Amino acid sequence: MAAGAMLRDTFGRRISYLRLSVTDRCDLRCGYCMPEKMQFLPKREVLSLEELYQLSLGFIARGITKIRLTGGEPLVRRDMVDLLRALGRKLGEGLEELTLTTNGTQLAGYAAQIADAGVRRINVSLDTLDPVLFTQLTRRDRLADVLAGVAAAKAAGLKVKINTVALKGLNEDEIPELVRWAHGEGHDLTLIEVMPLGEVEEDRVDHFLPLTAVRERLEQCFTLSDSSHSTGGPARYLTVAETGGRLGLISPLTNNFCAGCNRIRVTATGQLYPCLGGGERVDLRAALRSDAPDDNLAAALDQAMRIKPERHHFDISARGAAPAQPRHMSVTGG
Ligand code: SAM
Ligand code: SF4
Repeated sequence: MAAGAMLRDTFGRRISYLRLSVTDRCDLRCGYCMPEKMQFLPKREVLSLEELYQLSLGFIARGITKIRLTGGEPLVRRDMVDLLRALGRKLGEGLEELTLTTNGTQLAGYAAQIADAGVRRINVSLDTLDPVLFTQLTRRDRLADVLAGVAAAKAAGLKVKINTVALKGLNEDEIPELVRWAHGEGHDLTLIEVMPLGEVEEDRVDHFLPLTAVRERLEQCFTLSDSSHSTGGPARYLTVAETGGRLGLISPLTNNFCAGCNRIRVTATGQLYPCLGGGERVDLRAALRSDAPDDNLAAALDQAMRIKPERHHFDISARGAAPAQPRHMSVTGG
């Protein structure tokens, strides 16, 4: 695919980071993410491995340097490792980083292959170390598998970052222990505020925990100092003197981070959403399956740059309010 102009939106932001969802399916049912009876897409709607690869090449040609595979749960897709291997061969040829976000349930079986494909860092989502609470939060009894996955990733030489959604009245009291555990194992930990995306059974307001409050509480246990570290994402980092580790805070609700946004998201059906919190969308699958895929893909990416909004408008203050977007995080790709 011929190289085109770098992707830059109408606010002058250079877009260099693609989060690509490879499936909307998942083997967990985190209560804040999806309902128990989540309706998954028919498989024929989902992009094939070849299409995902072709799309990725199109993005690399337009200056995307970092690709994160996500979902749904990326490791429930069986040909996922083939895609990683194929994309891994593009590292150093325009692509600078290839990574993935996983819930860790299947990581033990894949960690070595993931490292072998050229992945250096992965994110593992884990909200609790308590097996009973884990089963309550995810509606599946899989904590032991996740912990085995994290250990296997470490053994394979992958740098692991733990992502934890801070949940009032659920894992709130455990956050200091999670920090100690992650840092003790040599992993960074990033806390995330719950976002109003997609209908679930619960009202997210009930468990919304602002990270400003979490920080105040952590300061009673730890000496925190602001760090200049940045991974080019929305997290702000703190260092924890007692553990020597790094703590990230992603606060979409209490601290809008859109000004520095460098990312776009593509769903497993090839819908490009230039903003996680917006409804704007461009159909890349139609472009890919057209008679002139290269030209149409280029035009679709230009269109995405024109419609990328300046910022999201999340609000989680009112009980019973509709989600900011009807799409679940598992659809857009977290
Ligand atoms: N299944 C994988 C996982 O859990 O890591 C990848 C996809 S998941 C949608 C990505 C991240 O989104 C996870 O860290 C999860 O906790 C987070 N997430 C899901 N729904 C969310 C919501 N409504 N608000 C904030 N974070 C959410
Ligand atoms: Fe699955 Fe990840 Fe959503 Fe949990 S957060 S239900 S693991 S997609």
